[in-house]
Amino acid sequence: MAAGDKSALQCYLSSKVDSADNPFLNYYNLSWDNPSLANKQNENLQRLIEEGASYNEQALYWLGRYNIEQAEDRADVDIVIFIDQLEQVAQKSGEAWMDAEVMFLDALTLMDQREYALAQVKLESVKLHAEQIGYQLLLARSLKWLANIDVERSNYNEALDNYQAAYEIFSSRSDNQQLARLLSNIASVYINMEEWETASHYSQRAFEWYGRSGINNAYVESILHINAGVIDKYLGNERQRKFHVDQTLKLSAKTRSVRIKTIALINLSAYYLDHGDEPSAMTAAEQCLVMARRHGGKNGISAANCNESLSEAFYSSGRADQALYYAKLALAVYESNRIQHRMIYVYELLAKIYESRDDYQQALQYYKKYSELGRSYLFDIRRKELFDMQERYDTHVKEKEIQLLKAENALTSSRLAERKASENMLKLGTALIIILLYWLYRRYSMLNKDKQVLEQSNAQLETQSNRDPLTMLHNRRFLERWLKNMPIADYRHGGLVVVIDIDHFKKFNDDYGHNVGDEVLVEMAKRLKAVVRQRDVVVRWGGEEFIMVVSCRESESERVLQRIQRQISAVDFSLSCGDYLVTVSMGAIFTTSAAQLYQEWVSLLLTADRALYQVKASGRNNYNLSTSYQLSTSSTAT
Ligand code: GH3
Ligand code: MG
Ligand code: MG
Repeated sequence: MAAGDKSALQCYLSSKVDSADNPFLNYYNLSWDNPSLANKQNENLQRLIEEGASYNEQALYWLGRYNIEQAEDRADVDIVIFIDQLEQVAQKSGEAWMDAEVMFLDALTLMDQREYALAQVKLESVKLHAEQIGYQLLLARSLKWLANIDVERSNYNEALDNYQAAYEIFSSRSDNQQLARLLSNIASVYINMEEWETASHYSQRAFEWYGRSGINNAYVESILHINAGVIDKYLGNERQRKFHVDQTLKLSAKTRSVRIKTIALINLSAYYLDHGDEPSAMTAAEQCLVMARRHGGKNGISAANCNESLSEAFYSSGRADQALYYAKLALAVYESNRIQHRMIYVYELLAKIYESRDDYQQALQYYKKYSELGRSYLFDIRRKELFDMQERYDTHVKEKEIQLLKAENALTSSRLAERKASENMLKLGTALIIILLYWLYRRYSMLNKDKQVLEQSNAQLETQSNRDPLTMLHNRRFLERWLKNMPIADYRHGGLVVVIDIDHFKKFNDDYGHNVGDEVLVEMAKRLKAVVRQRDVVVRWGGEEFIMVVSCRESESERVLQRIQRQISAVDFSLSCGDYLVTVSMGAIFTTSAAQLYQEWVSLLLTADRALYQVKASGRNNYNLSTSYQLSTSSTAT
């Protein structure tokens, strides 16, 4: 992009200096596009300031310095001093745009300290100021960072809205570099949501805009390659993945950013691990650690990332002791900085390591931590569009726990068998000693009892995977199996499919906390269970949605629905925060035969769901029995 274009897009700032070709404005623009090159002009500009520069020019200089250091990310330079300098100029000049920039940079500092709530407040007010004074590009940057906060909090929809708003501003100013960065951020939202195809689309667009901008910013370019590499990993494009990993590595040499350098090595290490080359993986992770240790970095987080990789490499090479050592080092740092998504990951890694050492008790303990933290971490993103992710997670956790408990049980059984065998030997050798025989008899019967308990607990574990652990209602998986082996005789008159959704449930969570939300769910489950017969099915379908299949005649359908509604809303729920009226909205459909129930399940469910949404739309606390369902061949397709 030519310099002229550039100052056109910075029209707000160029209106603040004398000419479009102002050296300070050029320096500031260069600090975005090519920070290393801009860095070489520092002394030159400093001299110009000494010779006398306007407040606006001074401010541009400090902003430029800030940008350069942000990109170079040197451990020995405290970026905050540039904000202080800018603030002094702002005070002397009384320029509103400088105040807004100071506030913006303060917000970024807060982001760095993971103080998201405070950062958000600041950014909101920067947004207002920028709007008032017509500083569009700052407005767009604050929208972008508000979106970044949304991402940190896993509010992906809000994040996408904010990114979209920023996108429109940047594209109307044809700020190609910011567009490229933004598209890369959008790609990482989809990475978080595990929507790899969409992520890949945005990542490619980010590259296109980066190419078009003609800029040369190794920092930005590395980030694009890092994202692209992750996406290709999950899409299984291993050759592309290696290309991006190598590019990141090459580019990281051009930035001074320890973060980028360590991420490059971590990704390289992961690549080798995935391809069974443990020694190379280990070398990369070791290089990473040397780099992170030498150059410090914030709170040792980079070093912790490297330790994590090293631990994985040791684990893969079957060296559990070393793996344990490095995983624990990493965990300590994550815990003290409350970096939850890494903690979750390391808990799982530790569980696997202990499992490989046959230490099932420790393995289970870490698996529980993994499961608990993972659950609460995913809690906030537990909304409809992400429900599948939650579900996959739950299933994975459940299966893993069962597997570990079984292994633990198997180990105990084999110990019992060993003990039994050695006691048998004793029995032979001391057959004449009555007392000992008697003692052995007692012992033997106790062992048998232990074994029984173990067998029972295995059986219990099997049934648990069919139930939702919170409400103990059956879950989706159970319903799927039940449909396949349905008690046809019970449904000879047909059956009623009901989808139930609690009204304004989120309010309980928001006003009284998730524990109270959970209480509502548990009580709801109790009441739903109580209102139908043993042979009917009540399932927690997800979140605060339930599904019932009730065997009845068509003429009884309305009465069944009224009974459910009464059961729930006639008496307040007694919760730990007081007594509250809880209402539900229900959509239902009656089906005339068991065969239809099974064969047309998907479209029955869809019809009931649609009926439910009508209830929601027309004010809630009601039911809607759909009559519009028609048998059709196309409706059986899922
Ligand atoms: P509506 O009347 O439109 O159905 O509003 P709502 O608030 O009930 O519905 P929405 O779907 O917006 O909110 C559902 C919430 O349920 C969001 C999610 O955080 C929460 N949730 C999902 N699973 C659980 C859980 O196991 N426990 C608790 N406490 N909350 C949960
Ligand atoms: Mg809902
Ligand atoms: Mg609801």
